[in-house]
This record gives sequence, structure tokens and C-alpha cells, in this order.
Amino acid sequence: MGNRNYGHPCFGKDAASKIGRIHLPVAKACNIKCNYCDRNISCMNENHPGACLEVLTPEQALERYKRYASSDSRLKIVGISGPGDPLFNPETFKTFELIKSYDKGAIFCISTNGLLLEDRIEDLLKSNVRFVTVTVNAVNFEVAKEIYEFALYDEVLYFGEDAAKLLVEKQQKGIEKACKAGLVVKVNTVLIPDINQDHIEEIAKTVKALGVSVMNIMPLRPYAKFSHLKRPSCDAVNNIRKRCESIIDQISHCNQCRSDAIGMLMI
Ligand code: SF4
Ligand code: SF4
Repeated sequence: MGNRNYGHPCFGKDAASKIGRIHLPVAKACNIKCNYCDRNISCMNENHPGACLEVLTPEQALERYKRYASSDSRLKIVGISGPGDPLFNPETFKTFELIKSYDKGAIFCISTNGLLLEDRIEDLLKSNVRFVTVTVNAVNFEVAKEIYEFALYDEVLYFGEDAAKLLVEKQQKGIEKACKAGLVVKVNTVLIPDINQDHIEEIAKTVKALGVSVMNIMPLRPYAKFSHLKRPSCDAVNNIRKRCESIIDQISHCNQCRSDAIGMLMI
């Protein structure tokens, strides 16, 4: 399970014991609405993706990077994972530019919903981004329409089935293009009881065929419109990971981190 060492703590357990990450929360806005999303800004106590104490400007992010990287040489990965979508916010690329000028050795990664991935591959390559995580919760629109409320693309707002079709298609095109361009791509999939639990193997097969290296199946944190659903048990998550591990390498040490997490992963 997820034993290959890609040199990134979230892509394999080996690297997680040696390399840390710093998430810089510069990407405020999001271009889709997931029904489980609760982006809690100004929050110190919650520990889940999208939560952060404050959104930083690129200049503040550089200062934060300088402060932490100089005090811990294990902090090699600079990630932007929110609190919104990194590719939807120009601050993401500005931050990479500033850090690249300060530290040529920094390694960059992003975590995205994938809607803009196909359109921004060249920009990612120019910014020296090496690792991309795409959250893929469905590979067909019938399942996707239960998970997403809307998608904003090219200044047009799509709802329901239209949003689901657009997102599923854009994610898959973007993933394929990113893999072909040499980026190391991981897929995060949120296991959502009653919604996509019987669809996860199909996701695994589809993303493997597109060139994805590893998959990270995470239990739903039931917020927002999905707050009535139950968080899947460890057994439920492990069972589905086991079913998928013959299809694609599985990650089992995800910390479901905040957008401003800093340090080593707990493994
Ligand atoms: Fe929230 Fe991320 Fe979904 Fe955007 S992509 S709605 S920030 S969970
Ligand atoms: Fe890595 Fe999971 Fe944390 Fe993302 S949420 S940085 S994949 S451990």
C-alpha cells in the first residue's frame, strides 16, 4: 500500500517520516461547491481540509515560508491547498514565484478540484510544480450530481447535471494532461456513504488508466449539506482501500490537514 517513495510525504509513507510540508493558505475563492464543504476561515480548533486561521497574501506567505523553512530543514514541500481552489486564485502562482526566487530548492505542490487543471498545466510547469492532487469523488455525472451543487467556468455558472458533467469531464482531461506532462498526480477520493461508496472501484480504474500514481480514499467529514450523513468507520475505509489496492497504490496515512498545516505528518 503506497510504498513507493516519490519524495513527497503525502504520496508515500517512507517520505512522510523524513520530509515535512508547509501549506500556505493564499487561495481564498473556490469555483465549485461540494456538498460536504465547510471552509472555516478564522478557525484555530478544527482540523480538516479548508480550515485555516487566516488567508495570507503571497508576500505574507513568503514571510511565513522563510520563518519556518529556516528553522526546520525537513520542511521541503510547499503546498497550496486552499482554503478554496489554488488554480482559481492568481495568488497561488504569485506565491510560487516569490518562493522560487527566494529558494531554488523548494518543491511545490497543489491540491485542486481539477476544474481548471487542463487549462493551467503550462502555468504549473512554469512555476516548477511537481506534485498535483485532484479530488475525484465521481467519474460519472449521475454520481457527481449528488455531490456538487454548482461549478463556475469561464464566467458561466452551471448547476446540477450540467455542473456534474462539466466537472467530471474537465477533471479527467486535466489529470490525463498533467500525467502526460510529467507531473506526479495523486487522487483524493472522499468516501461518502450512500452516495459514492459503490463507485470507488470505478474511480480507481478510471484514474489509473489516466496515469495517476496513487489514490487516497478519505472518510467523509460530514459538514454542510452532508452533515446528516455518517462519517464512515475505519473498517469501511480499510475495506474499500483493500478492494482498490490491486487497481492502484493506496495511501493510508492522510491526516486530512488544514489549509495552513505545517510540519511532519502524523503516521
Ligand atoms: Fe470546498 Fe474544496 Fe469543494 Fe471548493 S473544492 S467547495 S474548497 S471542498
Ligand atoms: Fe497530505 Fe492528506 Fe494532508 Fe493533503 S490532507 S497534505 S494528502 S496528509
